[in-house]
Amino acid sequence: MPHKKLHLATKDCRVCGRAFAWRKKWERDWNKVLYCSQRCRKASKQTFEQST
Ligand SMILES: [Zn+2]
Repeated sequence: MPHKKLHLATKDCRVCGRAFAWRKKWERDWNKVLYCSQRCRKASKQTFEQST
């Protein structure tokens, strides 16, 4: 097979539910990436830590 197709993995964001694709900056911890963006990561933390 001469064609080398780059397969980009995708995941669904835990917060907004949108699918996002693998990024170079995540190549080391793709397994740990759960959110599409920092904003969603923060949002999830805020929800999680809300104690009122
Ligand atoms: Zn998101």
